[in-house]
Amino acid sequence: MKGTSEILEQAIEQLATLPGTGRKSARRIALHLLKRDRESVLRLADALVDLKQSITRCSICGVISDGDPCTICSSTKRDSEKICVVEESQDVFLIEKTNEFRGRYHVLGGLISPLDNIGPDDIRINQLMKRVKEDREPIEEVILALNPDSKGEATAYYINKLLNSFEDIKVTRIAYGIPMGTELEFIDEATLSRAFASRNTF
Ligand SMILES: [Zn+2]
Repeated sequence: MKGTSEILEQAIEQLATLPGTGRKSARRIALHLLKRDRESVLRLADALVDLKQSITRCSICGVISDGDPCTICSSTKRDSEKICVVEESQDVFLIEKTNEFRGRYHVLGGLISPLDNIGPDDIRINQLMKRVKEDREPIEEVILALNPDSKGEATAYYINKLLNSFEDIKVTRIAYGIPMGTELEFIDEATLSRAFASRNTF
């Protein structure tokens, strides 16, 4: 049975398109919203509209931002000679939380994936090369912080090859290791071999 309200069904249908939300949870959310007072639901709706209409991307690094350039690119306190290359904006937010990196970022917006027909020109690699060539202050280090899977590897390999022509730029990768608190027997071979390869002096 479809129910007695077409409007409710439509809300459920839309909510069910969100990641991690099946029809069951979508129905629960829709019924919850119905119970909430009008003002709070309108605030939620406004926030969603703003999210799409007012947020932009930094034209320099590509991160999701309220302004262009973003606060990181326009800050004078960041190391301008270091660029950390990541796949998506959320990687920037994660790395920022660690307080380990004080340089700037470059968001690729995807990874090279021949199987999905995504080549180097489909992600922001050209923009990265342009930055490296034209930046007012010389870039000394490009840190590749991409996922340790086949797409991340392919992309890192490709970028490294392009950057090899710049003698003054050091290309590094973040070390992939064993998660804290995990026993060795539960680690897959690829992770273990990468952890060995990127071992540090004790
Ligand atoms: Zn930026």
